[in-house]
Amino acid sequence: MVELPIVTNLITEERKKKPDWLRVKLPIGEDYRRVRHLVDEYKLHTICQSGNCPNMGECWGAGTATFMILGNVCTRSCSFCAVKTGKPNEYDEDEPREWPKPFFLCR
Ligand code: SF4
Repeated sequence: MVELPIVTNLITEERKKKPDWLRVKLPIGEDYRRVRHLVDEYKLHTICQSGNCPNMGECWGAGTATFMILGNVCTRSCSFCAVKTGKPNEYDEDEPREWPKPFFLCR
C-alpha cells in the first residue's frame, strides 16, 4: 500500500486575500429592495437576472435595472451571454399594461 504524502504548506500557509475590486458587494440597501420589489411584483423580465449579470448589487442598489420586453428569450445565440436562446412561442400583448405607473420613475 502506498501512502499519500501530506502537503503541509497548504495547511499552514496563510490564505491570500483577494483584492477589493474583485469582490462583488452583497446586494443590500433600500434602493436594491425597491427595485427587487418592483421586478417581483410586476413580474418584469430584466437582462440583469436573465443574463446573470454580476453587477446587480451595484446597479439595483443605485435604483437601476434594465428590462427586457416581450419575454425573456432571445433569438440570438451569443456564446458569452446567459440569456435563454430560442424562438419565443408567444408573447403577452398586454405586457405594457402590467408595468408600474409611472414606469420610469421608480424613485
Ligand atoms: S443594468 Fe447593471 S445589473 Fe443590469 S445588466 Fe446592466 S450592468 Fe448588469
